[in-house]
Amino acid sequence: MGEKVMVDFPGFITRDKNNRHLLVGDDSHVLLSNTIIADLHRQLFDSLGFDEAARLIYGATKKGTLEVQSNLIRAYRVTLKGGDDLENRISRFPLYIQTFGHGKGKTIERGKEFLFEVKNSSIAEYLKESQLGRPVCYFLCGFFAGMAEAYAALVEPATHYDCVETKCIAAGASNCEFKLSPS
Ligand SMILES: [Zn+2]
Repeated sequence: MGEKVMVDFPGFITRDKNNRHLLVGDDSHVLLSNTIIADLHRQLFDSLGFDEAARLIYGATKKGTLEVQSNLIRAYRVTLKGGDDLENRISRFPLYIQTFGHGKGKTIERGKEFLFEVKNSSIAEYLKESQLGRPVCYFLCGFFAGMAEAYAALVEPATHYDCVETKCIAAGASNCEFKLSPS
């Protein structure tokens, strides 16, 4: 297995010492083309109905992200000093979107609630053609909420978070926008 590199990459990605190829360094992650994930979304929306599929995608992504990020936090012994530290950490989440290949994000508002903008959400770009006329980025909503809960667990009292998409490329907006709030 390759040496560990600085965590511009997610912690599970390493680089081979000899040929410099990127490696997925454990068996808990896979790298998938966004086209596969987007097509899976489309099939779930078609077969289960929009609302049920949306609920499942959001719930599964939130739970999975919370688990994975909690493991990484433990492995890297990440600690937070308090509420300000948590707010700083959450405001960096949009950068992680790009790290994981889901578009380019930035924080628009921060505080108790956060507003994130994501350009070129790959799932939304793909599903735009389907003309669903509704926000579709439940995967990103689950990601933001799961990440927030993983870090919030490091601060007393632990806060739970939910995320809703307020604008979406798939519903005709120029960018996707997400509101993350304590639940
Ligand atoms: Zn979207």
